[in-house]
Amino acid sequence: MEYLPCGLCGGAEWRRLLDTERLDGPLVKCNDCGLVRVLLPVTGGSGVSVEMERLAGRARELSLIDPMVEDRESPWRTAMAGERLTDLRRFVTQGRLIEIGSSRGDFLLAAGDYFEATGVEADLGAVRSARARGVAIRDGDLAGAAFPDHSFDVAVLYHVFEHLRHPHRELTEIARVLRPGGWLAIETPDIDTFWFRLLGPRWRQIIPDHLFFFTPVTINRLLGECGFAVREVAHVGKSMSLRLFVNRISRYSPLVATVISTVSRQAGLEEKTLRLNLGDVMRVYAQRI
Ligand SMILES: [Zn+2]
Repeated sequence: MEYLPCGLCGGAEWRRLLDTERLDGPLVKCNDCGLVRVLLPVTGGSGVSVEMERLAGRARELSLIDPMVEDRESPWRTAMAGERLTDLRRFVTQGRLIEIGSSRGDFLLAAGDYFEATGVEADLGAVRSARARGVAIRDGDLAGAAFPDHSFDVAVLYHVFEHLRHPHRELTEIARVLRPGGWLAIETPDIDTFWFRLLGPRWRQIIPDHLFFFTPVTINRLLGECGFAVREVAHVGKSMSLRLFVNRISRYSPLVATVISTVSRQAGLEEKTLRLNLGDVMRVYAQRI
């Protein structure tokens, strides 16, 4: 079997970190540059949307996703979108913005107050949801949209970058559609964390469809090679309902989750907002050179 080379340095030498059914292949670390990735065969050219449907199905099979819990999380997703927008506006306050992997359009809805905002999304179900909410969005990937050079002032990817099969190629395309001096925001797991060392395959970011696991060092190098200068790397938290928190805990301990769930439901606390910052997610701001 022939495998894809390292997505950062092109190296073909690696060591195996772990094997788990939660990932789409073995997790390996490049001997040359230290990039951590899921080892993928060179072939496997099914279409992006077919692939998305398959992965969504697998996440349900592994009981990682409860559709009812996800649906009821909508108010907290909106709150999270507002937080991301406020954070972004420390660097850039207006202009043409593109979100890559815009899901159901929560961020684009918020961003539309300040930016001329559009998105691309490969999951057709999410595209339909976004359009039903009046969000301008294209289905497919960024390259497929074939935007002219320098079309945008800002590009954002929230929990999308780790899903891409060819991150170097994607960043090169982003650099092409951004104007020089334009801003890029990427939010992605940071595998250089206590939680991965402690939990290994049970770390919350070890899930199907996560293909690349960056650190501040590896993402900084990749961005540099693709024409960007990193301006800030910060570890960020997330707002969620107590209900979602319990759902996530159930991945680790069904018993503990059941106890918390019963108590919180009886006390009417499920709608309470929790703010969690475990330090294992980074938000990177970079500027196109
Ligand atoms: Zn490498």
